[in-house]
Amino acid sequence: MSSQQQAPRGRFITLEGIDGAGKSTHLAFIRDWLAGHAIDAVFTREPGGTPLGEKIRELLLAPETRVSLDAEALLAFASRQQHIADVIEPALCAGRWLVSDRFTDSTYAFQGGGRGVSFERIGALEDWVQRGLQPDLTLLFDLPLEVAAGRMAGTRQLDRFEQEAADFHQRVREAYLRRADSEPQRFAVLDSSRGIAEIQADIAGHLQKLRERG
Ligand code: ADP
Repeated sequence: MSSQQQAPRGRFITLEGIDGAGKSTHLAFIRDWLAGHAIDAVFTREPGGTPLGEKIRELLLAPETRVSLDAEALLAFASRQQHIADVIEPALCAGRWLVSDRFTDSTYAFQGGGRGVSFERIGALEDWVQRGLQPDLTLLFDLPLEVAAGRMAGTRQLDRFEQEAADFHQRVREAYLRRADSEPQRFAVLDSSRGIAEIQADIAGHLQKLRERG
């Protein structure tokens, strides 16, 4: 057995939330926290994270893309499969931590809650592609839509999902909360309508707990 196979498995963290919830803001904090604790970590995102995945991301986010509901879900999982094989599994096997800006809960929330693809179908793809792989910790940044929309206003060009109507984002938020309810061990739901410092104190607590977990 090589020393790499013997390394303790790393930790897998995912960040989730409606657009404008603060994922990018807190990602920078997580990066600093892990560096400050001398934890070797990989930062990645979905859709994306590999050359193929980034091409899929461009297609999925481009406002002019026309794609069926099922094709959208399948593209998300095609990107994910490549990401797991090339980036996630190798990092975890080497004992590194891996932080992904979005993962499968986004597919449940956006394609499931938002678009109406059944959770059952998404679950079938999840089983196929992940073969039991699940994040150790999912930070769900939760806040009312109006607050998120207000924060985003005028800050960037909206992508194909961000351009959706309020009821779409409401369904996305609700689907996330349902996921969190069904897996309370994995999820940390963070009230993201609060100030940044307060949220980050919570994040640090969750990272510390994960670090101490055997
Ligand atoms: P996401 O990556 O989830 O779409 P961002 O991190 O880009 O969200 O945050 C959207 C906007 O809201 C940014 O302008 C950011 O500076 C601001 N923001 C994020 N979190 C907070 C907060 N807790 N309080 C006030 N403004 C925030």
